[in-house]
Amino acid sequence: MTDPDRRPDAGRPLAEADRQPDADRQPLAPALTVTLLGTGTSTGVPVLGCGCAVCTSDDPRDARLRTSAHVVAHADAGDVHLQIDAGPDFRTQALRAGLTAVDALLVTHEHFDHVTGLDDLRPFFFRIKEPIPVYTSERTADALRTMFRYVFERTYPGASVLDLHPVDGPFTAASRTAPAARVEVTPLRAPHGRFEVMGFRIGTFAYLTDVGAVPAETRAALAGVETLVLDGLRPAPHPTHLTFAQAAEVAADVGARQTWLTHVTHDVRHADAHLPDGVELAYDGLVLEIPAPAPTA
Ligand SMILES: [Zn+2]
Ligand SMILES: [Zn+2]
Ligand SMILES: [Zn+2]
Repeated sequence: MTDPDRRPDAGRPLAEADRQPDADRQPLAPALTVTLLGTGTSTGVPVLGCGCAVCTSDDPRDARLRTSAHVVAHADAGDVHLQIDAGPDFRTQALRAGLTAVDALLVTHEHFDHVTGLDDLRPFFFRIKEPIPVYTSERTADALRTMFRYVFERTYPGASVLDLHPVDGPFTAASRTAPAARVEVTPLRAPHGRFEVMGFRIGTFAYLTDVGAVPAETRAALAGVETLVLDGLRPAPHPTHLTFAQAAEVAADVGARQTWLTHVTHDVRHADAHLPDGVELAYDGLVLEIPAPAPTA
């Protein structure tokens, strides 16, 4: 269900008039700790059966699990744990990163490499018996309903309770243990082949993967972003992903201070990526500390 009151300018920062009353407010753009759990393309790197220099590299930065991220928002009332995508490597990634909670799942799109681990969220539900909200586009929500029918129709008693929340504008995610701890998330949109992918902006941080281009309105919505995690598949063109050069162009255009390329193939060793200043290849396990935006008077 889409909220009929949603504004047509969804995806842009909230206008001052739309913000919640002061009495009701927590800092909704708190400091963030972002862990890039995976930075690899859909096959993962090493690619099965491949003996190339990247797939056989002993540089740990060349081992790329499927792309996803974990964001901890440090609100005054407590931490809010946001999981962005849960692909086939999610359980391994969660163990590796020592994840202790997931308060909400944010899904970019329904491709295999981004959603296959959805039901591996179960232990986080068993520990805290509050539904885990899933924020995504209406289309991806429909796809998830079909792909994980036994989860969303609640026909199997051992399944976790995940609630689909289709969004088309800014939303607030809350801690499941301390509901006063909240963080505001603004969806971003960009094409990925024939359909749109949802990216997410929180304060001065934005995450946008699996995009073949970044349209003008999304670039405008990225204004003021300082740390950007952006699709950067490989140097060579691809119909549904940005190349390194295309990603660097977007990064420069929106003025991000630091851009990290993700969803990377086995075409380039981490050590051999030649990128402009302010743009780097991300790698699995990279932790980004994002300060809260400076208060505006
Ligand atoms: Zn992907
Ligand atoms: Zn290879
Ligand atoms: Zn994709």
